[in-house]
Amino acid sequence: MPTLVLDEPGKKIDLSDVDTDPPNNITKEEAQERLRALSDELFELQDLLWGARTHSMLIVLQGRDAAGKDGAIKHVAGAFNPRGINVVSFGVPTPEEREHDFLWRVHRHAPRKGEIAIFNRSHYEDVIVVRVHDLVPKSLWKERFDHINDFEELLTEHNTIIVKFFLHISKAEQEKRLLEREKDPKTAWKLNANDWKEREKWGDFSDAYEEVLERCSTKNGPWHIVPADSKWYRNLVVAEAVRDALKPHRKTWQEKLERDGRAREAELAQFRAQKA
Ligand code: AMP
Ligand code: MG
Repeated sequence: MPTLVLDEPGKKIDLSDVDTDPPNNITKEEAQERLRALSDELFELQDLLWGARTHSMLIVLQGRDAAGKDGAIKHVAGAFNPRGINVVSFGVPTPEEREHDFLWRVHRHAPRKGEIAIFNRSHYEDVIVVRVHDLVPKSLWKERFDHINDFEELLTEHNTIIVKFFLHISKAEQEKRLLEREKDPKTAWKLNANDWKEREKWGDFSDAYEEVLERCSTKNGPWHIVPADSKWYRNLVVAEAVRDALKPHRKTWQEKLERDGRAREAELAQFRAQKA
């Protein structure tokens, strides 16, 4: 899979050089078949995560308007048991949120043990949209890369497994999707003049994303640049990356559940012995 995974800081990325199309060696049918098979595996891994209660997971989705954040969430979250999933969307900060530091509203949604939190936009908006629209002075947002890295390190120390996705679409594909929304009464509710306004700042957003990818890619919080012009490929890439992040823990979680199971059995045996 040619998806770019960045797991250390310092690599300069030129997004205009990165594919937004799927590779040639996979068809839509193959991708959908693989995604179906993955769903069972994701469900099972989440069950272990939930039962073992030793880890949590944070999935961050970023991307331009119409990049497919909602669609990716629908497909990935759809594989899981809703019991342990928390989807959080971050929009324009409320007056209360603005009176706190930028991580305040984010930290309270960090996943608890056993849970998976999916962020539709995130703390990264505070170095992306905020930068593009000059919402805070540069001296302030420049400091935020370090704050973000420290924050994610803190979550990692608390056994949060972090995966971050940049859904990478082309300018032409974005235009196509925005225009399609106008044609379909079922999606017209998504129309937003602001999307067209943001589109005029395409290059500024690219610069902002490129600096995020360069500065906030870490071993414990890798960024995946997902070619997102085809929805079927995007869904597969995201689902596989989530599976790959969970899978190394499978054995540990299974062992923990077996230990817990034996402890419960012993308690039950003791209870029965006392009654006898
Ligand atoms: P949507 O994701 O389409 O519902 O739109 C949410 C909007 O909120 C987007 O235009 C974001 O750029 C904006 N947004 C999210 N976080 C922030 C932030 N921290 N500061 C300013 N705008 C934000
Ligand atoms: Mg939008």
